[in-house]
Amino acid sequence: MSQVTLLPVVKAFIAKGHGSFIDGQTQFSAAAACLPVIDPSTGQTMASVHSASAEDVDAAVASARKAFHGVWADTPPSQKGYLLSRLADLLEAHGEELAQLESLCSGKSIHVSRAIEVGQSAAFLRYYAGWASKINGETISPSFPSMAGERYSAFTLREPVGVVAGIVPWNFAVMIGIWKIASALVTGCTVVLKPSEYTPLTLLRIAELAIEAGIPAGVINVLTGDGAVGQRLTAHAGISKVSLTGSVATGKAVGKSAMDANLKRVTLELGGKNPAGLLQDVDADLAVAGLILGAYTHQGQICASPERIFVHRSRIDEVIDKMAKGLQQMKIGSPLDESVNFGPLANRAHYEKVLGFFNCAHAESSVICGGRAIERPGYFVEPTIVLAGNRDDRLLHEETFGPVTCFLPFDDDEELVDLMNDSPFGLTASIWTNNLSKAFRMVPRIEAGTVWINMHTFLDPAVPFGGVKGSGIGREFGGAFIDDYTELKSVILRY
Ligand code: NDP
Repeated sequence: MSQVTLLPVVKAFIAKGHGSFIDGQTQFSAAAACLPVIDPSTGQTMASVHSASAEDVDAAVASARKAFHGVWADTPPSQKGYLLSRLADLLEAHGEELAQLESLCSGKSIHVSRAIEVGQSAAFLRYYAGWASKINGETISPSFPSMAGERYSAFTLREPVGVVAGIVPWNFAVMIGIWKIASALVTGCTVVLKPSEYTPLTLLRIAELAIEAGIPAGVINVLTGDGAVGQRLTAHAGISKVSLTGSVATGKAVGKSAMDANLKRVTLELGGKNPAGLLQDVDADLAVAGLILGAYTHQGQICASPERIFVHRSRIDEVIDKMAKGLQQMKIGSPLDESVNFGPLANRAHYEKVLGFFNCAHAESSVICGGRAIERPGYFVEPTIVLAGNRDDRLLHEETFGPVTCFLPFDDDEELVDLMNDSPFGLTASIWTNNLSKAFRMVPRIEAGTVWINMHTFLDPAVPFGGVKGSGIGREFGGAFIDDYTELKSVILRY
């Protein structure tokens, strides 16, 4: 047992009053409703946060609009890039503080908070910062012929869409919040964030650090509260674009409300039921190690993680056996214990949802290992492997967003492609084989925004990420995000 000692700054931050961060400062009315923040490893309340009122939503949007038209519009691209890099420096300088806060709220192991929430978020920020001075339009030669000797030239400008509403889920509050901040700020937009009610603390702290970095007040605002606050924000007339990472149900609601509110732009990063296909020649040890990392990190609460695992019939017993042995090695316990790599689920509602999937697995499929709640305080469940009876099993179709993989054997590669595509989702997929020629031929036939070969759940800021089918609209990362956060203005001149 090597329990992390909470830093005094973490204890002090938890103990203070929390509310929305608007126009560079914390604002809440003492009369506003308070929401508890629960430590999922104990089920105990660790902090409370004032929920944003309708007036707070108006104030945050007004502040972001003022900053958009004023200071941020006048900030040169190189300075925008510098300020994002400076925020990355501060994220790292306050890394242990942020990692501890996030592990407390979300149940994420402290290793994952340090490496992903802090380390990768800083790397993403620096990647986006590099785009600041490289977002340009293009020159175009108009295609119509001259009628009377006149000539034409044309060019495009990339202009920021305006104020962006960034709606963030509870699974990676820091990293997904940073994706939204970075995409908005580097393209010249300002942002109003709405973190999940379960994990609001780290983005509130990051908003303070942004001021310390020199990002002007009003450029980043954070509204605390539940889905109703998000709904009010996305429907607000002062918002030009909504970027949501969340469930399909919320995505549909947000998409409809954005369309109704003057055809707002939307980027939707939604759920997945991601397949992994292990071909007959698979390196079983490599695949099992990669799939355990991909499917059970943060207790499987990762949208990109593999939940459906199709293995060639001749290899499935071997793979399941190795996977079950691997899961037995996982140490389950407090997210703040450095020797632990498997903590609780992030909140009670999600814990109950996953227990419902366990009941279904026991009734409809074969549970190979796990499949039960763990008797201790907090929201702990066992890492679980299920073998489906046939391709219609519910566990092969509904996203659990938990530490559950569901296996099914296949006999030939045509059947594998058909099984992989048999889903309303299309976020990620992976193929595991040493036959790269075969893998490359399968890639175009797989309906997913990202296809990995011999790996899964690996995100890189330079590689576009997003879903097809029910997994969403739009792309983040690479240069692909620029289209979603800018309007293209055409200028034509005659001479
Ligand atoms: P939800 O859709 O429930 O919530 C996402 C965010 O939306 C939260 O901040 C939530 O607030 C807010 N919200 C809820 N209702 C509304 C509404 N009507 N209008 C505006 N905002 C609203 O998802 P979860 O937080 O439960 O996250 C899990 C889901 O997110 C999974 O399906 C997962 O696959 C998906 N996800 C997708 C990712 C991707 O990149 N594709 C990455 C991570 C998760 P509150 O929590 O306070 O209710």
